[in-house]
Amino acid sequence: MSDDRMLSPEEAQQIVLDNVHTLGVERVPVLEALGRVLAVDVVARHDNPPHDNSAMDGYAVRHADVEEATRERPAVLELVEDIPAGHVPQKEVGAGQASRIMTGGLVPQGADAVVMVEDTRAEGGRVEILESDEEGGNIRRCGEDMRAGEVVIAAGTECGIGEVSVLAAQQHTFATVYRRPTVAIFSTGDELVEIDEPLEPGKIVNSNTASLAALCRAHGAVPLMLPSAADTASDTRRVVEMALTADFAISSGGVSVGEYDYVKQVLDDMGADIKLWRVVMKPGKPLFFCLIAGKPYFGVPGNPVSSMMSFLQFVRPAIRKVGGYSGADLYLPEARAVLDNEVENDGNRRNYLRAQLHYADGQICATTRGGQGSHMITSMLGANGFVVLEPEEKVAAGGEVRVQLIGKVF
Ligand code: AMP
Ligand code: MG
Repeated sequence: MSDDRMLSPEEAQQIVLDNVHTLGVERVPVLEALGRVLAVDVVARHDNPPHDNSAMDGYAVRHADVEEATRERPAVLELVEDIPAGHVPQKEVGAGQASRIMTGGLVPQGADAVVMVEDTRAEGGRVEILESDEEGGNIRRCGEDMRAGEVVIAAGTECGIGEVSVLAAQQHTFATVYRRPTVAIFSTGDELVEIDEPLEPGKIVNSNTASLAALCRAHGAVPLMLPSAADTASDTRRVVEMALTADFAISSGGVSVGEYDYVKQVLDDMGADIKLWRVVMKPGKPLFFCLIAGKPYFGVPGNPVSSMMSFLQFVRPAIRKVGGYSGADLYLPEARAVLDNEVENDGNRRNYLRAQLHYADGQICATTRGGQGSHMITSMLGANGFVVLEPEEKVAAGGEVRVQLIGKVF
């Protein structure tokens, strides 16, 4: 680490991103590709539609036979066959003839238009055409959606519902996607009891391991929850060593300047390449990041809200880079929002306030509640965004602020 200066959140994000890389690719069944980034171009295997077919239930005709037809002077055509969807027509439509065709049915030889059933009147072996459409009307052309050999989805695209549909239509049973990192998570602190242990005097419940694991799962990583470490160098080292089986490691707690904050020292002693410590933000100042045995290691603060904040600002972009995202897709999406209540940052670090975002009159509005302390776990309940306030920034109700989106806004 070159100096001990506190970094801006952007500088810290950049350092983290410069030090993480993709872990290669894997092939997954197409449904499992949902929410993953495709690592190779998807090429169409065949034309879609695979053949000219009817967009309507109606009659396949020769346009020249029906172009003059009106309700008063219908064109009367001889029926040659029925063409349900999925069956290959057996007969050509000649002059003065029509075939009854269902939606999706293959357009028979000779026909160059389909007249919808509502514009016809069937009569025994004949049909009266009461209105005509243009040539080619109601015919879905072979290949007008996708052409065989064409790249239909570019590498680097996140696989959403449309992508699954295209992959399936092109008979790609597997998709090649970027691997997700496994992330070892553990908490440090003599005060911790696990969520299923009795809460003895002086202790608090370890909620961070669970919340960090949930964040990993929600943001594209595979969490591995490890036992907590006591506040000693030897125990911290023991759990750090366990964590090195994963692609990334996150520990919570023990990265401040307290007497028993061992994480930095232990990693340093283990030969880690320390990249950063401390970011000018609130909550989340004491962030520690290093490479240990070449693997990214995040020491996030112990306060529950701070640990989640550090995850969302720094670990999430790293997970996304590994997962194949790039550019602006690495970061939390941002927007402007109208405030429902006044907010103020009277400190000298950038503030991230937990907020409830909602739409009103086509605009995003933000409400922040009291109880913004970094130990106030309930401030994350229903929080789908952060209001970002620079030092000294004060905005009245009705004013606009920068927000980051961490959940869906309705
Ligand atoms: P530290 O960063 O270790 O100084 O911890 C800061 C605060 O966060 C302390 O009040 C801890 O009790 C609390 N804390 C630390 N680790 C956890 C955890 N795993 N779950 C919940 N709270 C924690
Ligand atoms: Mg601690």
